[in-house]
Amino acid sequence: MEFGYGDDDDDLEGDFETWKDNVFWPTLKEMYMKDAEVPILNDDVDQLPECAYEVEYLDKTAKPEMQPEQINNASKYYFSSYDCPVSVVRELRTKEDSGSTVHVEIDISKAKGLEYSTADNLGVLPVNSSDVIESVADSLGYDLDATFAIRAAPDKEWQGSPFPNPTTVRECLSRYCDLTGSPRRSDLKQLAAYAKDPIDKKALLRMASKEGKAEYKEKIVDAVFGLVDILRMCPSIEAPLEHFLMFCPRLVPRYYTISSSSSVHPKSVHLTVSVTEATKKDGSILKGVCSSHLADVKPKETVRVFNRESTFRLPQDTSRPILMVGPGTGVAPMRALLQERAFQRKKEKKQVGKSILYFGCKKRSMDYIYEDEMKSFQKDGTLSQLHLAFS
Ligand SMILES: Cc1cc2nc3c(=O)[nH]c(=O)nc-3n(C[C@H](O)[C@H](O)[C@H](O)COP(=O)(O)OP(=O)(O)OC[C@H]3O[C@@H](n4cnc5c(N)ncnc54)[C@H](O)[C@@H]3O)c2cc1C
Repeated sequence: MEFGYGDDDDDLEGDFETWKDNVFWPTLKEMYMKDAEVPILNDDVDQLPECAYEVEYLDKTAKPEMQPEQINNASKYYFSSYDCPVSVVRELRTKEDSGSTVHVEIDISKAKGLEYSTADNLGVLPVNSSDVIESVADSLGYDLDATFAIRAAPDKEWQGSPFPNPTTVRECLSRYCDLTGSPRRSDLKQLAAYAKDPIDKKALLRMASKEGKAEYKEKIVDAVFGLVDILRMCPSIEAPLEHFLMFCPRLVPRYYTISSSSSVHPKSVHLTVSVTEATKKDGSILKGVCSSHLADVKPKETVRVFNRESTFRLPQDTSRPILMVGPGTGVAPMRALLQERAFQRKKEKKQVGKSILYFGCKKRSMDYIYEDEMKSFQKDGTLSQLHLAFS
């Protein structure tokens, strides 16, 4: 079968569909269905799609009681992450810079089983902002304080719980539903089935169609329109909670390269987070869900995290030189490596090779993050050479 290529920076789903329609199905048809009759699929969007879930509203005192075999493997991080208090959130850029990069320190001393090695990644479970969840609940008429349990609909196979439940609608929309990421064209087609107004339905189906690819790119992808915006734009959409939970994508963890050394800071994890913020085409402000969550968290409040091992490691032979290139927040793992090299030299009394760092940013007086630390690494001999480039 002919290989297909997709461009993730453009329209990966569209590229896949083109390959599927022009290569995949014709090839399968040619191979296996030459003389067979092709079944006509029911594409009637007026009918509500079948729902895999059933929701039962419960008393507010119901508590989550999940058995491991009841957990859906695809979202196991919802069940196995740790709530850890944040001890420090500090802006790293100067006031001269309109952007923001924050240094975050997370206390993992009480999280039994959460350990890390220098240059691992930390998975952070994002939380949607309250205005986003209130807007979705308002659009769909959900009671944010209602407690519910989710299970398989009759005759449907249970794939395990997609998130800890019973839970409240508020918790579910905050932590488990991707409300701000751009929905795929296939998601728009599903959504159209719930639109009562023919104009809303038509607009969604048009953007979901092959012919509407350019309109979808302009109005959804380039405009950074998420489900929350589409529900505002198409007020006739009515979806029972179990249907919404079926078509709404799950909110996935974001990864951050840990910027502290596990030898120097075994009980805390440092992150260097560039806060995603941009003005959308409609003039509203786009805020990255996870980076904003980390930037807005107050000391002592908790964030939900887990460790992911990385293959990025210092050479076992400490006497070997290392060359590091880390512009902007790319300096995060280099900071961790430098802390580790200093530890090897000073505490472990090892012979440590040269450490050379190339760092770049916009302007020394704006976003030269960790300038003081780099200077002191130079001063104590940990950093042999520091090459700077300001654009
Ligand atoms: C292994 C790994 C390590 C990483 N380490 C770090 C790290 O150390 N520090 C760090 O800061 N990040 C790091 N990242 C990136 C990080 O995981 C997140 O992707 C980043 O913080 C954005 O997440 P968010 O939830 O804030 O934004 P989201 O809510 O996911 O929004 C991002 C989306 O917003 C849109 N967008 C963003 N900017 C613009 C713009 N200017 N105009 C229009 N649309 C825009 C894009 O569609 C983009 O997909 C790492 C990623 C990986 C995979």
